[in-house]
Amino acid sequence: MKKKRFVRHYVTTKREKAGPCNICKTHTELTWDHVPPKGGIDLTAVEMEKVSELFVVGHDEIKFSESQNGVKYRTVCKSCNETIGHRYDPALNEFSLTVGRYLKSGLSFPRVVHHRAKPAAMIRAILGHLAAAKIEIDDCPFDRNVREFVLDEDKPIPDDIFIFYWLYPYEQSITMRDFAMPTVRGNFSTGIGFCQVLKYFPIAYLVINKPAYEGLEELTRYRNLSVDEEVEIPILLDRVEHAHWPEIVDDYNIVLASKTTGNAILAKPKRKKR
Ligand SMILES: [Zn+2]
Repeated sequence: MKKKRFVRHYVTTKREKAGPCNICKTHTELTWDHVPPKGGIDLTAVEMEKVSELFVVGHDEIKFSESQNGVKYRTVCKSCNETIGHRYDPALNEFSLTVGRYLKSGLSFPRVVHHRAKPAAMIRAILGHLAAAKIEIDDCPFDRNVREFVLDEDKPIPDDIFIFYWLYPYEQSITMRDFAMPTVRGNFSTGIGFCQVLKYFPIAYLVINKPAYEGLEELTRYRNLSVDEEVEIPILLDRVEHAHWPEIVDDYNIVLASKTTGNAILAKPKRKKR
């Protein structure tokens, strides 16, 4: 059997017990935020294998970063943490559960399925957790933008924040902040997008300041809905990318990393052997 190579890369995910909250900036006691949030779908090893057989093309040869059981960041205050956890996370988790259950339900799937979702709440959950997933308190435009609207349901989602999503049939989760890449892979003349990713079974999300990316479905097209509004949103089941797409550096792509990008975390769930 081929040996897997791991590059050990340890990152810090906590600040002091007290400090400024990554979201409201209040100097107070900090609490742990789970990224991705707890409460999404948790497949058994057998189920995961079944889903992988159906969807995964090729093998994941790239191993980077630390492997651990879930990632949490001590970067947000209790109040922000609870608002995201109670008000927005249920929508994100419900969507993961619905899609996940669907994927493990059968053997043949149509090209596109639609699932009910609350996109405005999902958008706020995704952005809130990405804001928490950074050790240093930062004034970069993305963080500033997110702080201004994420907990205020009356404020619109900023015009230059776009979220794209696609099927992610992998068991690891990947969070990567603050990197830049061409909006068309390998083509600098098309412009550079400023990006964040939050990827975990069964859906991956790319946040970028450009209105399109590689033909992916856009979650922010529902940005004008209220937090509680539900719509049916499409998922392309015939679109499966590599686990490290799109942030992978390959023949077609280049990624410009920031200091925070180096803190990207890949986490694999601990599983009992069959
Ligand atoms: Zn706060």
